[in-house]
Amino acid sequence: GGALGVAFFTRWLTLAAAAVDREADRLTELDSAIGDADHGANLKRGFAAVRDVLEKEPPQTPGAVLVTAGRQLISTVGGASGPLYGTLLRGTGKGLGDSATVSREQLAAALTEGVAAVGRLGGAHPGDKTMLDALGPAAGALGESFEAARDAAERGALATVPLQARKGRASYLGERSVGHQDPGATSSALLVAALAEAAAG
Ligand code: ADP
Ligand code: MG
Ligand code: MG
Repeated sequence: GGALGVAFFTRWLTLAAAAVDREADRLTELDSAIGDADHGANLKRGFAAVRDVLEKEPPQTPGAVLVTAGRQLISTVGGASGPLYGTLLRGTGKGLGDSATVSREQLAAALTEGVAAVGRLGGAHPGDKTMLDALGPAAGALGESFEAARDAAERGALATVPLQARKGRASYLGERSVGHQDPGATSSALLVAALAEAAAG
């Protein structure tokens, strides 16, 4: 396993932006079933801004790439997912410190910190049918491999279908939120898939 530097983290977020562009309609469709039909548009706007800032002001360390991206999401996305994903990336970036390169194991530990920060901000727990249901398992599995993290996030997103939402807009629906896949868990699986893609090439 090689060391992960600025180029790797920039590639991850660029691939994430491409995946969000590609899947925006599906994310919005999921959010129209149990939310307000803006998740695709929210993330498209946010990740386009991330791509721009990384191009115009390239950060010098992996941690700075993630902190910069997180800050950008917080300032450009109005919905709940902006501050939550912003906090995820900022918390993960802070966890990486200012090393020029990091290992996958270090990234796994930092991501675990980022996920915990999302939990503190939003007050959600595992099983509440949120992005945490994909991100939590992914952070755990990243200690094993990028592919294991991708698969764990995908499984976590699918496992939100039978759950009743207890946080965010979907929770207003009560039992009617059951039977739908959570939009945020679905976009989290895309972000982790982009991470595995960045690692693969
Ligand atoms: P909004 O609900 O403000 O329109 P989005 O549609 O962009 O924002 O994002 C909705 C997603 O955000 C949900 O599918 C869920 O995964 C996630 N989410 C909402 N509230 C929380 C929370 N308190 N903790 C964790 N994730 C949350
Ligand atoms: Mg929404
Ligand atoms: Mg909204």
